[in-house]
Amino acid sequence: MTPFDYSRAGDVAEALRAGAGVQTKFLGGGTNLIDLMRETIERPAALVDITGLPAEITARDDGGLLIGAAVRNTALAEHRAVRTRYPMLSRAILAGASAQIRNMATVGGNLLQRTRCAYFYDDAGSRCNKRQPGQGCDAIDGFNRNHAILGASESCVATHPSDMCVALAALDAVVHLAGSGGQRTLPFNDVHRLPGDRPDLETMLRPGELITAIELPAQPIAARSTYRKVRDRSSYAFALVSVAAAVEVERGSVKDLRLALGGVAHKPWRAHKAEQALRGGPATVEAFRAAAEAELADAVPLRDNGFKIELAKRTIIAVLGELAGVAR
Ligand SMILES: Cc1cc2nc3c(=O)[nH]c(=O)nc-3n(C[C@H](O)[C@H](O)[C@H](O)COP(=O)(O)OP(=O)(O)OC[C@H]3O[C@@H](n4cnc5c(N)ncnc54)[C@H](O)[C@@H]3O)c2cc1C
Ligand code: SF4
Repeated sequence: MTPFDYSRAGDVAEALRAGAGVQTKFLGGGTNLIDLMRETIERPAALVDITGLPAEITARDDGGLLIGAAVRNTALAEHRAVRTRYPMLSRAILAGASAQIRNMATVGGNLLQRTRCAYFYDDAGSRCNKRQPGQGCDAIDGFNRNHAILGASESCVATHPSDMCVALAALDAVVHLAGSGGQRTLPFNDVHRLPGDRPDLETMLRPGELITAIELPAQPIAARSTYRKVRDRSSYAFALVSVAAAVEVERGSVKDLRLALGGVAHKPWRAHKAEQALRGGPATVEAFRAAAEAELADAVPLRDNGFKIELAKRTIIAVLGELAGVAR
């Protein structure tokens, strides 16, 4: 590991001052960043530990929740209001990593964890445009079973690995940021980028910007929601495909719904086309399949991951059917 300085911030202003250096990184639970530093893929000159920043989950006047960025994943998943009012979020977090990792990992760090593309981690032997722009991508013609089927580019076919972020995408979360230019908010769905020709640029955060909190708007529909993750092993594996969904059915019609997919793209994928196809229409298996077909119409398979297209469709249908009480 390359040597680095370490400091611990007591509040946001201190974190921003200490984090202003070009080669400085914020340290959450360290469960991704430290691994990347061990592999010398990340080589920050300084780390600013932000786990001492406020780590509270507070109720907002409008009925939503404000979640401090230093809240640990376990604390968020176990919070009573999250379990009862946003069950898809609780389930998504508990579907990820292991209990030990969830105890360490923070909400802010989960958003910015980096892809699990094996070629990205193989600094010694593989070409990767995300690690080194312009180098090439060994995944495109390599072993790409876990890679993207939606929104990928000729430069990068990696997926975003987070489970929690899929639920946040479906829930219309809002990310609170602080930086040298002051504070601002970003809709969650605008935080992560598709790869285009710059896969090294992964988010819309500005240099040195700190995630301070995640806001969950009040969403009565979210009380009837779930998260399903399909993976090679039943635990301790990243998603091949995952679905976060909430559905409200009235007299056999889909009154409203939220739908997002994981494991399929460079960012958590909000399924706008499927939502549009279903809203106001019949809550039937046939309608769910038509919506899934519409969402996956632009999917492009790679050599090893064509199975993901049908897997995503079937998972969407199964999850919507379960929530709507419609048997297949
Ligand atoms: C073996 C293993 C299995 C895993 N399985 C899964 C899985 O199945 N599903 C899943 O979703 N995840 C999984 N993970 C990933 C895990 O969820 C992430 O490592 C974790 O969420 C990262 O959070 P952290 O607080 O440890 O982040 P860190 O490692 O501390 O930081 C990650 C990045 O975020 C930045 N950062 C941290 N906090 C902030 C902030 N507040 N503002 C700005 N930047 C910040 C850091 O600078 C760094 O770039 C797994 C990890 C491991 C090691
Ligand atoms: S898919 Fe993306 S992360 Fe993986 S090797 Fe290619 S450029 Fe790198």
